[in-house]
Amino acid sequence: MYADLHLHTHYSDGTYTPEELAERGREQGLGVLALTDHDTIDGCRQMALACAERDIEFVSGCEFTVELDGFEIHLLGYFLNLDCSRLIEELEKSQNVRQNRIHEIVSRLNKLGIEITSNDVLDVANCNSPGRPHIGRVLVTKGHCRSLDESFQKYLKKGKPAWVPKAKMTAPQGIELIHEAGGLAVIAHPGLYHRDDVIGPLVGAGLDGIECFYTRHSTAMTEHYLMLAEQYGLIVTGGSDCHGENKGRPLIGAVKLPYSYVERMKSAVSV
Ligand code: AMP
Ligand code: FE
Ligand code: FE
Ligand code: ZN
Repeated sequence: MYADLHLHTHYSDGTYTPEELAERGREQGLGVLALTDHDTIDGCRQMALACAERDIEFVSGCEFTVELDGFEIHLLGYFLNLDCSRLIEELEKSQNVRQNRIHEIVSRLNKLGIEITSNDVLDVANCNSPGRPHIGRVLVTKGHCRSLDESFQKYLKKGKPAWVPKAKMTAPQGIELIHEAGGLAVIAHPGLYHRDDVIGPLVGAGLDGIECFYTRHSTAMTEHYLMLAEQYGLIVTGGSDCHGENKGRPLIGAVKLPYSYVERMKSAVSV
C-alpha cells in the first residue's frame, strides 16, 4: 500500500475538488492520501468523506507558510485536530493576510498598467486562502501573460515588480501550533530551498519530520535528506505536491510513499 502525503485542492491553489482528487488517487492505486492545502484546513472534512467512500485512508493536513529569519519555509502539519480552536484562529489570521495581499499585488499590477481587479482574482480563487497562482491565472485568461510560469517570472515572484511580502508566523511558532493541534510538523520540499542550514534550528524548535520523497527532488537529493533524517532522528515523509491540472499533467501518484512510513508517523502521533 502506498501514500501521497502532499496534495492541494481548490480550497487553496489547487484546481481539483476533494472528490476529484480522491478519485485520481484511487486511479493511481493509492491507499492513503493527505490533504495539505496552503494555510487552510477547509477542505479536510470533505476530503475525509471522499476518501472514505473510496476505501482510502485519509490524513488531515495543512501546508503552513512560516519564516525563519526572514526566509520563507513551508511546514506540513499532519494528523491535525480540525477542531483545535487555536489552529482555526491562527489560520484565519494567515488567510486575512493572504486576502489583503491580493489587493496590494493587484494595485501594483494596476500601476504597471495592467487592468485587473481584486474581484477578478477573488472570484477565480473562490476560497478563504487565495494566493499568487490565482492572480497568475487571471493574468493568463485576460491575455497579459502566456502562462502561469510567465506570470511569476515577470510579475509575481520575489524581487519582481508586483511582489509583495507576506507577514507570517515564525517557524518555531508554526511548529508549536501544529503540536498544539496534536499534529506532526514536517519541513516541506527541503531540496527547493538550498538552505540546509535551516534544518538544525528547526529541529531545535521541535521539528518532527522531513519530506524526503518529493516530485522535484533528484535521487541524490532524496538520499541526502534521508541521511539527514537519520542524523537528526526525523520522521521521513513524501508527497507529489499535486495542484491539479493547472501545472500540466496531474502529479498525484508521482511519489508513492510505502505504508511503513505512514505507520511510523502514526506511532509518533500517538505517543
Ligand atoms: P503564495 O502562496 O501566494 O505565496 O504563492 C505561492 C504558490 O505559488 C506556491 O505554493 C506554488 O504553488 C505556486 N508557484 C510558485 N512559483 C510558481 C511558478 N513559477 N509557476 C506556477 N506556480 C508557482
Ligand atoms: Fe501551492
Ligand atoms: Fe510548498
Ligand atoms: Zn504544496
